[in-house]
Amino acid sequence: MSEDCIFCQIVAGDIPSRTVYEDDTVLAFLDANPLSPGHTLVIPKAHHERLNDTPDDVAGAVMSTLHDLVPAVEAVVDAPASTVAFNNGEAAGQEVPHVHGHIVPRFEDDGGRP
Ligand code: 5GP
Ligand code: ZN
Repeated sequence: MSEDCIFCQIVAGDIPSRTVYEDDTVLAFLDANPLSPGHTLVIPKAHHERLNDTPDDVAGAVMSTLHDLVPAVEAVVDAPASTVAFNNGEAAGQEVPHVHGHIVPRFEDDGGRP
């Protein structure tokens, strides 16, 4: 755990969040400022800053969770598609330095890229 990391504090239960899925390695929870209904973040429970800092097995668990959650999240909010993305590094828009995948449900005519 990184003491000053928001997502580590969510994993620890020190900051409340709405859990979507959880196992020993991965936590998925609703984004506090959703770009669309159902916007979900998938993170490893262990602190790794970027995808390339994340051990293969942990990154694999995150990807496997994304694989399974994308259709489940789409179904819950009745979205026909979603944008699935990692902002990997500050210059790419990564604001929270704890690796996370976004699932952003998308809708017809919703105005383009999130
Ligand atoms: P980034 O820009 O780093 O790729 O995305 C960070 C995401 O984390 C943003 O979409 C932001 O809304 C979300 N976020 C930031 N702080 C919190 C928080 O305390 N709780 C939750 N649930 N989401 C957060
Ligand atoms: Zn962290």
